[in-house]
Amino acid sequence: MKRFDYDMAVLGGGSAGYAAARTAAGTGLKTVVVEGGAKVGGLCILRGCMPTKALLYAAEVMHLASHPEPWGIRAGKVSFDFKKVMARKNALIKNFADYRVKQLHSKRFKFIRANARFSDSHTVELQYFCSSRSSGRESPPFNRSRLTSAATITAKNFVIATGSNVASPPLPALNETGYITSDDALALKRLPKSLIVLGGGAVACEFAQFFARFGVKVTLVQRSEHVLKEFDTDAAAEVEKIFRREGIKVFTGTRLVDAKRKGKLKTVSFAHEGKTVSISAEEILFALGRVPNTASLNLKKAGVKTENGRIVANELMQTTAPHIHAAGDCTGPHEIVHIAVQQGEIAAHNIANPIAPHRMDYRLLISVVFTEPQVAFVGLTEKAAQARGIPFLAASYPFNDHGKSLIMEAKDGFVKLLAAPKSGEILGGSCVGPVGGELLHEIVTAMAKRMTVRELAAMPHYHPTLAEIWTYPAEELAARFSAS
Ligand SMILES: Cc1cc2nc3c(=O)[nH]c(=O)nc-3n(C[C@H](O)[C@H](O)[C@H](O)COP(=O)(O)OP(=O)(O)OC[C@H]3O[C@@H](n4cnc5c(N)ncnc54)[C@H](O)[C@@H]3O)c2cc1C
Repeated sequence: MKRFDYDMAVLGGGSAGYAAARTAAGTGLKTVVVEGGAKVGGLCILRGCMPTKALLYAAEVMHLASHPEPWGIRAGKVSFDFKKVMARKNALIKNFADYRVKQLHSKRFKFIRANARFSDSHTVELQYFCSSRSSGRESPPFNRSRLTSAATITAKNFVIATGSNVASPPLPALNETGYITSDDALALKRLPKSLIVLGGGAVACEFAQFFARFGVKVTLVQRSEHVLKEFDTDAAAEVEKIFRREGIKVFTGTRLVDAKRKGKLKTVSFAHEGKTVSISAEEILFALGRVPNTASLNLKKAGVKTENGRIVANELMQTTAPHIHAAGDCTGPHEIVHIAVQQGEIAAHNIANPIAPHRMDYRLLISVVFTEPQVAFVGLTEKAAQARGIPFLAASYPFNDHGKSLIMEAKDGFVKLLAAPKSGEILGGSCVGPVGGELLHEIVTAMAKRMTVRELAAMPHYHPTLAEIWTYPAEELAARFSAS
C-alpha cells in the first residue's frame, strides 16, 4: 500500500478550508491545511462579509441619527469621523482574524503557510513565503517577494478550497481608467466625493448605499433590467425605489461602452434606453463579480475538471478525481459563506465516511443583502419557481400595514410566501424589510421542518413583533387551501 504524508490535505484556510480541516481532524484523519494568502483569515473575515457588514451597520446608525424627526427627536446636524468608522471596522476584523489564526494553529491539524499546486494527483508542491516556524504564529509582514520553492507533500485525499478572485473588467478601457474593487473600498483612507458603482448584485448594492449614506454622490450602473437579479422583480424594484429616494442615481438595462479619465475625474459611458449616457465621478467601484481562484493549481495534473475556472463537483463535493473534493467559492454554485462551510464539512465527512456520505442540498438556499431595508429569500423565489416549472401559490404582505414596523417607521418592503398548491408546504419565503435577514430565519426553520402554511399560521407569534407579519401571508394561503 502506498504511504502518504497525510490522510487529507486542505488547500486554502478560508471558511470552507477551515470547516473541512476541523471536521476531518475531528474524525481522526491526519490533516494538513496549506494557506497561501498574504494574510490568514479568508475572504469572509478579511475582505467580505464581516468588514462590509461592520461598515453597513455604521451607515445605518448614521442614517437613523440623521432622520430622528418622525419620533419627535431633534439631533441637529449629524457628522462623522471616517477614520474612526474605518478604525472600528479594522479593530473588529483584527479580532476575528486573530481568532481564526489561533484556530488554524491549534494542534488538531498541521498548518503550513505556503502556496500549493498539484504536481500529480496525490502530490502538491509548496511554494513557501517567509514563515515563523519557531513560534508557529503568523509573522507579519508576510513578504510575497520572498517566495522560495519548493517542498512537496503527499496526501491520500484533498479538499480544494482556494476561494475566488475579483473578475477582470469586461472593458479594457476600464484598466486604463483605473477603478477600485471591494478590497480597495474597504481600505479607503478618505471618501471620494462621487462614485460610479458598476454592478447591481449584493456587493454593488451594499457599497452603493454605504457610500451614499456617508455623503458620496453615487451612481449605480447595472446591466440587467433590475438590481439583485436573482431576486423577484418586486423586491428589486423596492430597493431601486429606496435607493433613488436616498439620492442614488440608478441606471438599469445598460451596456458598458467606454471608460476614460480626464484630470481628476473618471468617466463611464454606457448604452441606456437607446442613448449613450456618460457619467463622471472621482472614483469607479468595480463590482461585477468574482471568478473561482483555480488557474494556478495545475488541476489538469490532478485530473480535476473545471468549467470556466469553476471546479466541477457533484453533490458529495467530489471532483472528477474521486479522492479530491472541492468546497466554497472555487466550486460554487453559490458564493455564500455558510454554503462554503457546509460544503467543507460535507467534503471532509465524505472522505472520512465514504460508505455513509452526506450530500449538499440547496433546497434551503438563503440569500441576504444587507442594504437597509435588508433583502432576503430562502428556497424558491417566484422567478426561480417559474424558470423551473414548479407550481406554486404566493401571498405577500406589506410592512406599511403592520403594527411593529409602523412603530419603527420602517414602512418599506414586504414579506412573501410561496406554497405548494396541493400540500400547502412552504416552498419559499422572501422579505424586503427591517432586519429582513433575521426575520427570514423563521421561514428557514419552517422549511427545514417542511411545515405547511397552515402550520405556520397556527404557530404563536408575540404581539407586537416584526415576526408576526409572516402570519398574514400564511393565513391568506391557508384560507385558500381550506376554501378549495
Ligand atoms: C465584499 C464581499 C462581501 C461579502 N458578503 C457576504 C455576506 O454578507 N454573506 C455571505 O454569506 N457571503 C458574503 N461574501 C462571500 C463570502 O465571503 C465567500 O463566499 C466566502 O468567504 C468563501 O469562502 P472560501 O473558503 O470558499 O474562500 P476564501 O475565504 O477566499 O478562502 C480561500 C483561501 O485559499 C487561499 N489560497 C488561494 N490559493 C491558494 C493556493 N494555491 N494554496 C494555498 N492557499 C491558497 C487564500 O489565501 C484564502 O485564504 C462576500 C464577499 C465579498 C467579496
